[in-house]
Amino acid sequence: MPFVTTRTATRKDQHYDVIVVGSGAAGGQTAYTLAMDGVRVLMLEAGRNYDIVAETPMFQTNADAPLRGAATPDKPFGFYDATIDGGWAVPGEPYTNASEADGAKFEWWRARMLGGRTNHWGRIALRNGPYDFKPFTRDGLGFDWPIGYDDLAPYYDKVEMLIGVYGSNEGLENTPDSPPGVLLPSPAARVGERLIGQRAKALGVPVVPIHRAVLTTRLDHTTLPARLHPGNATAQRILAADMQRRAACFWATPCSRGCSIRATYQSPAVHLPPALETGKLDIVCNAMAYEVTLDRAGRANGVRFVDKATGKHELVNARVVVLAASACESVRILLNSKSAQHPQGLANSSGKLGRYVMDTVGSDLGGQVPLLENLPPHNEDGAGGSHVYSPWWLYQQQKKGQLDFARGYHIEMGSGRRLPSLATAAGLEWLTGGSYGRAFKADARRYYGSFVYFQGRGEMIPNEDSYCEIDPVVKDRFGIPVLRFHWRWSDHETRQAAHMQRSFADIIGAMGGRMQDPPEADGRKAIANGGSIIHEVGGAIMGSDRAASVTNGFGQTWDVANLFITDGAVFASNADKNPTLTIMALAWRTADHIVERLRRKEL
Ligand SMILES: Cc1cc2nc3c(=O)[nH]c(=O)nc-3n(C[C@H](O)[C@H](O)[C@H](O)COP(=O)(O)OP(=O)(O)OC[C@H]3O[C@@H](n4cnc5c(N)ncnc54)[C@H](O)[C@@H]3O)c2cc1C
Ligand code: SF4
Repeated sequence: MPFVTTRTATRKDQHYDVIVVGSGAAGGQTAYTLAMDGVRVLMLEAGRNYDIVAETPMFQTNADAPLRGAATPDKPFGFYDATIDGGWAVPGEPYTNASEADGAKFEWWRARMLGGRTNHWGRIALRNGPYDFKPFTRDGLGFDWPIGYDDLAPYYDKVEMLIGVYGSNEGLENTPDSPPGVLLPSPAARVGERLIGQRAKALGVPVVPIHRAVLTTRLDHTTLPARLHPGNATAQRILAADMQRRAACFWATPCSRGCSIRATYQSPAVHLPPALETGKLDIVCNAMAYEVTLDRAGRANGVRFVDKATGKHELVNARVVVLAASACESVRILLNSKSAQHPQGLANSSGKLGRYVMDTVGSDLGGQVPLLENLPPHNEDGAGGSHVYSPWWLYQQQKKGQLDFARGYHIEMGSGRRLPSLATAAGLEWLTGGSYGRAFKADARRYYGSFVYFQGRGEMIPNEDSYCEIDPVVKDRFGIPVLRFHWRWSDHETRQAAHMQRSFADIIGAMGGRMQDPPEADGRKAIANGGSIIHEVGGAIMGSDRAASVTNGFGQTWDVANLFITDGAVFASNADKNPTLTIMALAWRTADHIVERLRRKEL
């Protein structure tokens, strides 16, 4: 029987083909693909087991929670957030920064639980476009990937069909369409989103349905399993049964708390149940991996980890090792896997391990729109987050050199009446001049739902000054050396952030809205700290030159043929598109490659 446990001792006698470290988007997808193809997998997960049905506080109201559900240091996204263990700080597991100055420090958000950050994530699921894989070719900056959009497109299709992504095909530049029958229908735009769409369009900014991993309808269990696993009757049967256990969204609860009806993608809701059902996957929770071990021939043969339940150091073995612990954690494990053969860490003959860590450029601005005041009460809950977004619209102007920064951004936006919280009617003084009693209640009703906010999410170009390394002094509570980060934004990113501010102000103005604070003209002030958008990738980039990269286009490390990385560490650039769909597409592709190589007995 497959099992999820905190202990590995009982499984020492098992023989595994592949060890997968991590159970989030990357680990979940890798283990799913391998197990569905009959490969025996052992997953090591540093966090505890997590029951998406029993532990998801879907229906509680903020009024029932301490501090009315407000954020606290151990629950930075509020009391009911799905992250049961993790956040901006993980007790006993520090990291350090070479500089603590804003703009020079990196903020690292980690989840320690089965499924990792996929239990909380915003579910925005965008494909990278063709330009995004060849940025150097386009403008001479950063690096090209060794693969192109066409290599990954079939895997984007598969991931979208498996996890369920809603959205539309708009035919926009570098914003790929999906083949017919792959995307689910989009939900209707909310009132504020429609107004944004109308006014932004007049400025030349497109507003289209966003792509989000939420089931607007149930998945078609009669056709999708055969499209996803052609010729594999067992996988088709298991997946068809599992798809029938996933309900469609009922548009009423915040997705960031998790979804016990499995209407949204979380690894423990979508990847792990069918993978466990195959009988080919075993999961050991509370297993903090810290080293990849080698045999005498220099091939990876196992992983050492601390069993957090006992404090004991354990070793498990397999024919192939896959790191999927999230970009910087996978880099950390490799940097800590030092030996006489690999004194600078494993898979680091290029010296590029830890280099080119990237995040998404982020900058925000909000406004208040009189046209949206005193709207008749109506239900605007919908899916967590906006139903629309603006893909980057100035590719041609950028190409002609008309902008002072090289890469684009998309806009995520918010509006509408959501579940009231402690802060719903707070901070209205700039509009009311300060009201009390009945007047305040009338003001709260008047302004509720009349606010809009915009978040730019832009591409960062990899640079030599943004990287991580092992801190020479600091260790975590297990005695494992921690990461030290270095960070620098280039002018391309800070100018992009200033452009975001101008765009947001223009849209708010076109809506007849007003802003409490003016847009920030200085991009160095407008830009969020590195890491704070929680889209960190890079650190073990893929490339076609082994002297300049850590892995090849299959995430296979150049130095150790049976050692692979399937998380965002391998990204050679970080397009404006949120990274997780691409992480899963790459993971599926790498897992397919491993299956093929195992079959041919090449691994
Ligand atoms: C608030 C928030 C909103 C987000 N919104 C979006 C969004 O809308 N769209 C998008 O594309 N992305 C979004 N992201 C980012 C997204 O969550 C990540 O890109 C994605 O989860 C990365 O997958 P991963 O498997 O690499 O890492 P994770 O999901 O973090 O999983 C890594 C797993 O590995 C485990 N692990 C770590 N170290 C070890 C170790 N040493 N040994 C064993 N196990 C280990 C962790 O406990 C964890 O379970 C968001 C993230 C957050 C936090
Ligand atoms: S809004 Fe839909 S997908 Fe999100 S938690 Fe609620 S039911 Fe699940």
